[in-house]
Amino acid sequence: MQQIRQFASRHLYHHAEQAARPLFEAVKKHAKVIRAELAGSLRRHKETIKDIDIVASCKEADRAAIMDFFTKLPTVQNIIAKGDTKSSVLLENGIAADLRLTTDKDFPYLLHHLTGSAEHNIALRGHGQKLGIKVSEWGLFKGEKLIRCKDETEIFAALGMSYVPPELREDTGELDAALKDKIPRLIENEDLKGVLHCHSTYSDGANSIREMAEECRRLGFEYFGICDHSMSVYYAKGLSPERVKQQHKEIDKLNAELKGFHIFKGTECDILPDGKLDYPDNVLASFDFVVASIHSSMNMTEEQATKRLIKAMEHPAVKIIGHPTGRLLLGREGYPINHRKVIEAAAELGVSIEINASPHRFDLDWRYCKYAAEKGVQISINPDAHEVAGIADIFYGVGIARKGWLRKNEVLNTKSTKEIAKWFRETR
Ligand SMILES: [Zn+2]
Ligand SMILES: [Zn+2]
Repeated sequence: MQQIRQFASRHLYHHAEQAARPLFEAVKKHAKVIRAELAGSLRRHKETIKDIDIVASCKEADRAAIMDFFTKLPTVQNIIAKGDTKSSVLLENGIAADLRLTTDKDFPYLLHHLTGSAEHNIALRGHGQKLGIKVSEWGLFKGEKLIRCKDETEIFAALGMSYVPPELREDTGELDAALKDKIPRLIENEDLKGVLHCHSTYSDGANSIREMAEECRRLGFEYFGICDHSMSVYYAKGLSPERVKQQHKEIDKLNAELKGFHIFKGTECDILPDGKLDYPDNVLASFDFVVASIHSSMNMTEEQATKRLIKAMEHPAVKIIGHPTGRLLLGREGYPINHRKVIEAAAELGVSIEINASPHRFDLDWRYCKYAAEKGVQISINPDAHEVAGIADIFYGVGIARKGWLRKNEVLNTKSTKEIAKWFRETR
């Protein structure tokens, strides 16, 4: 019960993002708006979102017109509050959205303040105090004197730091890094070269391998790794060894046809309760790569779950661990695992850990990405798409990877077709 109550006020990232986008674009395009930006947890790419925050700047005289415009946008269902500096509305999908208006001079300070997190803001204020600078949503003040900053970069610079990307503003070491000019160049969408771990009509997907591959190509990727379910997952039409053979024949044909694009033969192989894999070794050996995941018997202690994952990783066919905790955001807690032990085992065994980029999962949790990268574990960002439309979820995963401090070279599927083929063959 408590869990339900706690979850009721939050929303999945993609629901909030899809609701926020048209609202934000409309405000930004308004002729009297000077600057506008999304703020809050959406801008920080948190895994779930409480509400939508938009900050915009305008002339004093234009406030009322912009607030009128905002509160009458087509997806607005109710107006909760309407004022000159702040209006709150409830959207038709049940998500609340705030617009804050300020002068253009004050915009960067308010944007920074409303982007947060609270922990980041407190830490930054504390750092400012040491320099004799008061940090607030109204400005940076040395005594009574305002330090003029035209954007957030100048705010950080005034405090002796390099720019901190919004995703990192969680007080998890970003201020120290920024003070030393050691903020990493975070991974970007364009760094991804291929898509791994998706499903087709062979198991529980809605589209054929060809349709999935063509969508990957259309999105600019150079390869696609299909990973239908293994045989014990009968409720998701898991593939028998016979069906695996058929699928591989189809993939060979497609690969002969699709020039400049490659389909890798993968499987999302179940990890059985004892940690063994759901295919015999000769079938496992017929795949280019194996993603190993838990879908059954999920009622485990932390010790059992950790052991089960590590046992699976010890099988030399396994290249990637899929959705390591099995959590469904705002739905079910995952089984408890010892993240550090799993990451350390993955590092030792040369196994990649997935960030499942489905906005229902975002699993591996971003809080553990930095540790995984420090240990040298390659993280793969996988959409786990069950239909063509789900492939672009991979870009939500990039946001989570950025939140986890990941750089391009720490992400497996930034490798080219040639490089990843080699990694699949030779990594262990
Ligand atoms: Zn799965
Ligand atoms: Zn899957």
